[in-house]
Amino acid sequence: MDKKLRILFLEDVPSDAELIARELRKAKLAFSSERVETKEAFVREIEKFKPHLILADYSLPTFDGLSALAIAQEKCPDVPFIFVSGSIGEEFAIETLKKGATDYVLKDRLSPLVPTVRRALDEAEEHIKRKKAEEALRQSQVEYEDLYESAPVAYYSIGVDGLVKRANRAAENLSGYSVEELQRLKIFDLYAEESRAKAKELFGRMKRGIGWESEEMMYKTKDGQKVYGLLSVSPIKDENGRVKESRSVVVDITQRKKAEEKLKEYQEHLEELVEERTAKLEDTMKDLKKEVDERKKAEGLIKMQNERLKELDRMKSEFLSTAAHELRTPLTSIVGFSEILLKRKLDEERSNRFLRIINEESVSLAGLINDLLDVSRIESGKGFKINKAPTDLGGIILENVDLFKSQTDKHTFEVNLPPDLSKIELDKDKINQVIENLLSNALKFSPKGGSLTVSVDKTDEKVKVAITDTGMGIPEKDLPHIFEKFYRAESSSIQAIGGTGLGLAIVKYIVESHGGKISVESKEGKGSAFSFTLPTKSTRKKR
Ligand code: ADP
Repeated sequence: MDKKLRILFLEDVPSDAELIARELRKAKLAFSSERVETKEAFVREIEKFKPHLILADYSLPTFDGLSALAIAQEKCPDVPFIFVSGSIGEEFAIETLKKGATDYVLKDRLSPLVPTVRRALDEAEEHIKRKKAEEALRQSQVEYEDLYESAPVAYYSIGVDGLVKRANRAAENLSGYSVEELQRLKIFDLYAEESRAKAKELFGRMKRGIGWESEEMMYKTKDGQKVYGLLSVSPIKDENGRVKESRSVVVDITQRKKAEEKLKEYQEHLEELVEERTAKLEDTMKDLKKEVDERKKAEGLIKMQNERLKELDRMKSEFLSTAAHELRTPLTSIVGFSEILLKRKLDEERSNRFLRIINEESVSLAGLINDLLDVSRIESGKGFKINKAPTDLGGIILENVDLFKSQTDKHTFEVNLPPDLSKIELDKDKINQVIENLLSNALKFSPKGGSLTVSVDKTDEKVKVAITDTGMGIPEKDLPHIFEKFYRAESSSIQAIGGTGLGLAIVKYIVESHGGKISVESKEGKGSAFSFTLPTKSTRKKR
């Protein structure tokens, strides 16, 4: 014993105490000591001196060893208490030992003292150590129990038979069963249907000594609620290495799962919302696009109409200037020649020539005015009466061709007529106007001369008249418009070819009034071909 030992002597005879001390010192035992002989001093020194060892006499003047032993056992039960006294007899010795004394040594035979003291001290030390260890063990057990019980996660100990051996409070809370109820259950009863197969598989693995961590499982509480848990399992083996049970930890993640589900629901809802909104937006965009397209279309129409209006305006001014010109030219001749005739006496031959000129110009003027009147009638919607009668179409054509032949020597004429054109139901004057107009155009727009052809085809239902020239032709861009009133291809004006742009409009009107159709084919620089049809059987279509 290296530590400085503190020894309390209960001894009324100082020399006896000294004797004992010397015996101990002889054995090289280092110690300090106190000697007391009364109860008060004994009690006081136990507390103050805190002895490691008490060596007590059996009988004292005012106190006694057995009482001291009782006090020591109460106050410092771990301190060895050895009686060192005069002869006390076997019986007493046994009684002291029974009452808790560590040992006893006789004063007149001190040789066993040192070994007795050593043994007592060793035992005491051993005892203290064991007590400490036991205390530590007890403490850690308490802590473990505490932890086990108050842990926020559920603990289960499960036997290899699948029965619940132990469970903590959190397990009770999670499952809704009390520990006693749990102990009557098989672990699989705690799982929801969805997780039962998985639980069985994991249990099988556990029995083979394989643990796992954090498996997401679904449980069913006593009252049928579904809860989610993260399950971790460690197999516990016995000393032979055989799995005897498993320790399972379940962390309740129901809240989290529910939050996740909510979140998912919310997300889905959000997605739906976004989809809905997008669809609406797309619809709106479509509507908007439609509107924009319509507006564009309308703008295009307005633009077209504006252009048309501009064109009409141009045509109107051109018409006014050409009409004025067309009116003035014959009028100038009429006025001029009639003035001459009035003022001067002329010979018969000259006055006849002038009168003929006046007559011709008057006829041309009348034609022009008739055209204007026709157009105005057509315009006003009144139209003009078509008086159909069996008419000789061939005759009309031949007469006109003869008339135009006499006016030119730059052109050749060809006429192809089928037989039997003598009794076609039509308005003679109007069809004459059509033929005359088309022939006049053919001649007029072939200023360098060329050949003019008139051909007629006849079927049971209709006759088709084609008037072809080899003149200047019509530019493609003008073709769709030439039947419009006042329309004249620019080239006609540039080449100073007279006209008002009314002829073809009237022609078309007359042909259509007969129930027929008119069309044109032309190539600029090559010539034009105007053809129209007339039904041979009256359709009784009044216009
Ligand atoms: P006008 O002859 O008084 O100009 P029309 O209505 O008869 O009026 O003809 C309209 C336009 O059609 C003419 O100005 C001319 O540009 C074109 N056209 C008509 N017939 C012919 C043709 N045979 N050859 C070339 N252009 C023609």
